[in-house]
Amino acid sequence: MRFREDVTRFLETAPRPAGLHDYGPTPSHGDVRAGRDWQATLAEHGYACLHWPAEHGGPDASVADQAAFAEECARAGVPRQLSMVGPDLVGPVLMRFGTPAQQQRHLARIRDGRDLWCQLFSEPGAGSDLAAVATRAVERPDGSWQVRGQKVWTSAADSADLGILLARSGGPGPGGLSAFVVPMRSPGVTVRPLRQMDGESKFNEVFLDDVVLGADQVIGTPGAGWAVAKATLGRERLSLGANAVGMFESIVELETAAAAHGRLDDALRDQIVEAWIRVWLMRVTWERAIEEGTDPSGSTFSVLKLLTSETYRDIADLGIAALGPAALEEEQPLVKRMLVGHAQTILGGTSEIQRTILAERILGLPRAPR
Ligand SMILES: Cc1cc2nc3c(=O)[nH]c(=O)nc-3n(C[C@H](O)[C@H](O)[C@H](O)COP(=O)(O)OP(=O)(O)OC[C@H]3O[C@@H](n4cnc5c(N)ncnc54)[C@H](O)[C@@H]3O)c2cc1C
Repeated sequence: MRFREDVTRFLETAPRPAGLHDYGPTPSHGDVRAGRDWQATLAEHGYACLHWPAEHGGPDASVADQAAFAEECARAGVPRQLSMVGPDLVGPVLMRFGTPAQQQRHLARIRDGRDLWCQLFSEPGAGSDLAAVATRAVERPDGSWQVRGQKVWTSAADSADLGILLARSGGPGPGGLSAFVVPMRSPGVTVRPLRQMDGESKFNEVFLDDVVLGADQVIGTPGAGWAVAKATLGRERLSLGANAVGMFESIVELETAAAAHGRLDDALRDQIVEAWIRVWLMRVTWERAIEEGTDPSGSTFSVLKLLTSETYRDIADLGIAALGPAALEEEQPLVKRMLVGHAQTILGGTSEIQRTILAERILGLPRAPR
């Protein structure tokens, strides 16, 4: 309780960078400056990277404290960090696979917002089937690597300082993949923003034309890319669960909107109560996933991803029911939420893929044809 009170006081009194708002898991270009300043403030006050262990400069906060922080940030209308990619994905992955030199070089800069990271995994021909990555990394005689290929749907690539890249350094299949750190302003990196249906441009196409990377930019060892990718995706599912803890706030918002538009009837109340119960289940599942540890192949991560993204989408759709015809007339945040809500069931592994994982690993059904 003490921690929550401290957080509330901090959120009430901390200086807020101009324009800061709760922009979700990753910032768009226009949010990056405020997001970086906010991350620096969080680091200064001990609220950055709450889940990081003390040996890597984190506060090693309890699960309850992490949940309380996420909830209070959502209530205060601020993001809980600059972006999920650095603190939630890359940080833990470097702690597990990175060399001491890589940890030394990158972790502190992630924690205090100096470096914004992006995730260079998906390609036009490799999304759900990530093992089909075709971007090629060729080792040169001096031990450096030359990378050529195209990535797509890369959130925040237009502002990122660094990217975690999955590329093919060997033969076909998962065993031929390696993971690298890519400085996004390297010669040969071209970023083209993509426009979404809500008008924003949060993700991008990234072209890698003979980008040269040092031997020390391989994460883990050459050929360990699939293990790094699986750990990153597991972490992404966990991180999305943390963001979902703030959904209680979205439910309160839509209930208020429904009341204001005279639409809070019994049928809508029932749906709101059901959504509230689902968010509670999600919160419990998120806490269980953290307690179960960091095994990214754990099925709880897939249960969490499925529950989180579909609940987010359904609450977003409920916002439209709450507004009724007003959804067509006004520049409404609830309409915007609905437009991005459906993307949740695609990013970080689609719902169909999560269901396949659950069918095979929990229900023991026959393996789906590959
Ligand atoms: C908002 C957003 C942000 C993103 N950010 C990033 C990012 O920062 N970095 C990054 O690397 N990627 C990012 N992605 C990409 C995301 O990881 C991919 O979109 C996702 O993995 C799906 O891949 P795909 O788009 O190629 O679809 P496909 O894999 O082509 O799938 C198309 C459809 O077929 C279904 N399908 C495919 N295979 C199977 C199967 N075996 N069984 C049943 N159904 C199947 C899928 O469920 C889906 O409905 C982002 C996506 C979104 C929406």
